[in-house]
Amino acid sequence: MFKNIISKQEQQLLSTAIENSKNVVIVAHVAPDGDAVGSSLALRGVLKNIGKNVEVVMPDTLPNSIMFLQGASEIKIYKNSQEECKSIISNADTLFCLDFNEPKRTDLMQDTIMEAKAYKVMIDHHMYPFDFCNLVISYPQISSTSLLVYKIIVQLGFDSYVGKAEAEAIYTGMMTDTGNFSYNSNDSDIYIAISQLLNRGINKDEIYKIVCNTSTIDKLKLNSYAISEKMEILDGGVAIITLSRAELNRYSYQKGDTEGLVNQPLGIDGVNISIFYREESNYVKVSLRSVGEYAVNQIASELYNGGGHKNASGGEFFGSMEDAIKLLKAHIQKYI
Ligand code: 5GP
Ligand code: MN
Repeated sequence: MFKNIISKQEQQLLSTAIENSKNVVIVAHVAPDGDAVGSSLALRGVLKNIGKNVEVVMPDTLPNSIMFLQGASEIKIYKNSQEECKSIISNADTLFCLDFNEPKRTDLMQDTIMEAKAYKVMIDHHMYPFDFCNLVISYPQISSTSLLVYKIIVQLGFDSYVGKAEAEAIYTGMMTDTGNFSYNSNDSDIYIAISQLLNRGINKDEIYKIVCNTSTIDKLKLNSYAISEKMEILDGGVAIITLSRAELNRYSYQKGDTEGLVNQPLGIDGVNISIFYREESNYVKVSLRSVGEYAVNQIASELYNGGGHKNASGGEFFGSMEDAIKLLKAHIQKYI
């Protein structure tokens, strides 16, 4: 069993909020990943099993690779049905904000979240949580929000409401936020949790296959092209990869097709920082990864209006690909 993760007082506040709520709403960050969706669906499942009305609202669509999770297709997408989502969020008694630390990360949804009258609970693992929730449960040292949610569920005494579907959701989030337990994954509690989730009947090998190792010819070719033709290694052990809209289109890019690409260059001896730039319709999405003491969240926040974890961050650059790279090259000395 785990040690208690939240204080007795927080536990009391949380239990009371859940007990007194008829409508619970769960929201997570834009471009929801395995951890955002996994933690949300796990909490949704448990609260539904307890008998609550629960809705999950995300700013935009989910990657196909996690649509197998139970409840994924019932998640409301704010971008696609704004009025309905606004009304759901406004009518929440308790609003859980999962896997993000500042309202900005929910994109179009932020005003609705800020204006909601609900009791707001943040459960997250990013550094420097903003002060916009009534109850802030923030543990940057925990590798995924999914593991944190699981620990809280256990502490609240709700573990008997964790079925196979909820276990799959938790496992998915734990797996994706640690690169299938290849970084940020030396905490022994992770493996205690996995053992308990396996006892709920999950098939971890199958989940890995569905989420991380399902490809198409185009996807494989796009990733190979990116590495063979578009990777540059800068002095100081910084790898950069860029993909323009035209290049993405050439390989019929689908959301999620470049997931994991940014990690690849870190396998090269001497590469400590890897940055992947993907051109979107009106901005460049930047993904950053590093090893050890190199803090890419600093680069993300200082150059690309973003943030994240020390070794895994992201941001956005509103300008051309060329200018995004120029900016990096002008400042990279500071970070290496
Ligand atoms: P990814 O590169 O997979 O999109 O993001 C890696 C991590 O960086 C995410 O888990 C999240 O913590 C953070 N992140 C990604 N994009 C942004 C962004 O635009 N702003 C902030 N603050 N964090 C981001
Ligand atoms: Mn996360």
